[in-house]
Amino acid sequence: MLRNGLYIISTPIGNLQDISARATEILREADVIACEDTRVSRKLFSLLGLPQDKQFLKYEDHSEEKNSQHLIDLILENHAVALISDAGSPLISDPGYKLVRKCREQNVYVTAIPGACAVITALQLSGLPTNRFMFAGFIPNKDKARTDLFNELKNIDTTLIFYETAPRLLKTLQQAAEVFHNREVAVARELTKMFEETVCGDFAAVIEHFTQNEPRGEFVLMIAPPTEKEYKIDDVREILQQRLRETSLKTAVKEICEQYKLNKNEVYDLALELKDE
Ligand code: SAM
Repeated sequence: MLRNGLYIISTPIGNLQDISARATEILREADVIACEDTRVSRKLFSLLGLPQDKQFLKYEDHSEEKNSQHLIDLILENHAVALISDAGSPLISDPGYKLVRKCREQNVYVTAIPGACAVITALQLSGLPTNRFMFAGFIPNKDKARTDLFNELKNIDTTLIFYETAPRLLKTLQQAAEVFHNREVAVARELTKMFEETVCGDFAAVIEHFTQNEPRGEFVLMIAPPTEKEYKIDDVREILQQRLRETSLKTAVKEICEQYKLNKNEVYDLALELKDE
């Protein structure tokens, strides 16, 4: 019999056989299944041949106050509660961390049963450096927020990993290219499923691939850390000043952008400012 507590259980991200023996055993024995969507979780139980004669309760972080105390009360009444997501590892761009905090505050036993996680599987397939990586969750929906996020992260010396959806992938790649320029990029799709694919290359090649092949399914986007020195606008001030004396503003801006992989608008604004000085 399971001791009372919260069991954080990873479920498959596609291939059903990726559920571990321990995860299956605990799901079989747990009294309560806390999940994002009870229909999705019941279906998983049915596919795995697990008994459904237990309580399936919807859990969301944003209504966590009432929700999590109810789950903790059940644990304190001696029940084993399993927390699962629709797919993959709970808490990773999925609900749960507030529940874990509350369990800790109330000295409730918590354990995690590891398993499939899209971030890790994608990183393993990417061919990008794995010694340091940063998972930055879902990419924001709005253009400005997306570019702001990329600018915030571009000087961090790690592989960057994001979750992205099919309809937004191309737009995101195009905007990322304007910030990350010639960095290597990898897009992992439909991991552990029939159409699993990892597309690697520079932005132009990956954009070309997904222009020819309409993005379908679930995606993880990864961007290599900076390799060579990446120039900032202030680094080219003097060179631009010099070139403005020798050639037209348009030519100077074009040259500097190409040579130092800088944003055209930024260099153009700086050139105007220098011309006025
Ligand atoms: N907690 C899950 C995990 O990390 O294992 C992820 C949940 S998050 C709500 C869902 C996102 O994860 C998808 O939009 C996609 O970006 C990524 N994802 C999940 N399964 C995937 C798969 N099989 N292949 C590629 N990406 C996947």
